[in-house]
Amino acid sequence: MDLGLKGRVAIVAAASKGLGRAVATELAREGAQVAICARHAEGLERAASEIRKATGSEICWQALDVTDASGVPKFVDAVEKRYGRVDICVTNAGGPPAKTFLEISPEEWRAAVDLTLLSAVYFAREVLPRMRKNQWGRLVTITSMSVKQPVDGLLLSNSIRAAVTGLARTLANEFGADGITVNNVCPGYTLTERLDELAEQQAKSAGIPREKIFERWSSQVPLRRLAKPEEFAALVAFLVSERASYINGATIAVDGGWTRSLL
Ligand code: NAD
Repeated sequence: MDLGLKGRVAIVAAASKGLGRAVATELAREGAQVAICARHAEGLERAASEIRKATGSEICWQALDVTDASGVPKFVDAVEKRYGRVDICVTNAGGPPAKTFLEISPEEWRAAVDLTLLSAVYFAREVLPRMRKNQWGRLVTITSMSVKQPVDGLLLSNSIRAAVTGLARTLANEFGADGITVNNVCPGYTLTERLDELAEQQAKSAGIPREKIFERWSSQVPLRRLAKPEEFAALVAFLVSERASYINGATIAVDGGWTRSLL
């Protein structure tokens, strides 16, 4: 299937590692012109050069904290100046700390809202008017399976990602008439550094080896294994493509069946 992504200009946020990087790689492989950001130049430079080696496509990158309200517009502006347009944007950020309710301070709540919700708002504010100008666009928010079924111990994720889901669903209504689709994708347990960190933390507090945590997670998934980042990226590549032109306002899990809900 030709996804029709050749020449499309795509921004993938928080993409030096993990899911963001897998999405950037998949889009580059499909012929899109991809711009990535993350906080540290060193990791970005390495990611860009490895993606270039794997796909043959140039990757443009800029060090940027996605919570920087004035930095995001400058980055989007720079991408548009370089490539002449912005067609696709995938919002993403690191995960908020894994904590239960009484462990979280008001400052940590604010920081998590900045990281998880406002970062998506900053990108949406910048890219949607540009997409509207072209009467074509794709916005995808990366959240978590926690928006379909709360995950124990991930209170900040369970709470604030629901707001991102509401944001995406509403933007889908507001911008559909402009040829722009907005969808939300929910990763399940996927083998990235974020998952390593969560396993380490849970293993420490339970006093068991981290392998046991991975086994526990796998046993909760009907497919009995954890996802590879490329399995997640494949869905995002489809959703931002020409081929997904009638999928709008959807929240889709890539969780191996972990979520027990009917819809
Ligand atoms: P990861 O930790 O492997 O990678 C996160 C990426 O975000 C890195 O490139 C990092 O440099 C970048 N980043 C972090 N904070 C940033 C900031 N403030 N500004 C710019 N860049 C920043 O994480 P991942 O597994 O790829 O997860 C991506 C998102 O998906 C996270 O929010 C995570 O919580 C969520 N998620 C992951 C899983 C999973 O199993 N991996 C499951 C559900 C949800």
